[in-house]
Amino acid sequence: MIPGSTPLAETAAKTSRRRHLLDFEGWSRDDVLALLDTTDVMAQVMQRTIKKVPALQGFTIGTLFFEDSTRTRLSFERAARAQSADVISFAAGGSSLSKGESLKDTLRTIDALQADLYVVRHQAAGAPHQIARWTDALVVNAGDGRRAHPTQALLDAYTFRARFEGFDGFAGKRLAIVGDVMHSRVARSNVALWTLLGAEVVLCGPRTLLPAELGQARGVTLTHRVDEALEGAHAVMALRLQHERMTRGLLPSLAEYRQRYQVTRKRMRAAHAGALVMHPGPINRDIELEGALADAPYSVIEAQVANGVPVRMAILYTLLVGSR
Ligand code: ASP
Repeated sequence: MIPGSTPLAETAAKTSRRRHLLDFEGWSRDDVLALLDTTDVMAQVMQRTIKKVPALQGFTIGTLFFEDSTRTRLSFERAARAQSADVISFAAGGSSLSKGESLKDTLRTIDALQADLYVVRHQAAGAPHQIARWTDALVVNAGDGRRAHPTQALLDAYTFRARFEGFDGFAGKRLAIVGDVMHSRVARSNVALWTLLGAEVVLCGPRTLLPAELGQARGVTLTHRVDEALEGAHAVMALRLQHERMTRGLLPSLAEYRQRYQVTRKRMRAAHAGALVMHPGPINRDIELEGALADAPYSVIEAQVANGVPVRMAILYTLLVGSR
């Protein structure tokens, strides 16, 4: 069906107005739904014996990871290669950044290699936007500081749509996000996306990890009580304590945190029948999530990782081919 298939061409055309994917600003509900439909087509490709199509032949995708990643980088590279694009990879670790080269000079060097699209992860919020101003290539944000991680939110919403039994739309659905909300770009992007799609989001964590301003958005509520957050939730997402972004001690003790905020099988009983358990990874078992819950039949954590590939295939295809 690829390229030029009717559903793919149609959905890609609908989402072709944006050059970059930096966050969900400027995205409409229909744009997102079209992207999820394109993902369905890509998911079919990933079920074939030969998981490769020529859709992006001739395009070069640069993955620029200034911060560590396992799932996101691998899945973008898989998504690019499954569509026959060439991939050049940059990781800050072994680069001249450690010799003091500035971000701009680093980009200038990479840009000389002439990629058509960059996938950028950076510890500084706004870095992908800055890179988008410096290059003519397209930019996809793969996580910037605590600000945004739009492709993670898209794969979360896609997984929910694909796996929630009897899914009949996002309106009236409730996503509970529990844990270190303060340092989480995943939480911020999911709030933006799920409310755009018409769902409600409940954010839960200790006072020190739950910024009050997030509760100001329409469709979002905050609570410090996990049982209250899980009540009637259709999906429950646990978040890791992101110690690498914490600048001071924000927790009284890990034992108390586990006792008050761990998502457990027992606590899941308050959720809606058929509620799904989600986690963006990496998981710290038995801290934010009861270990056994990660492997429960209603856990879709592995599906989230697997769905990362077709979601990112759809994003690359839509931005590159849709914009031509
Ligand atoms: N992998 C996600 C991120 O990059 C979540 C996490 O690191 O806890 O933000």
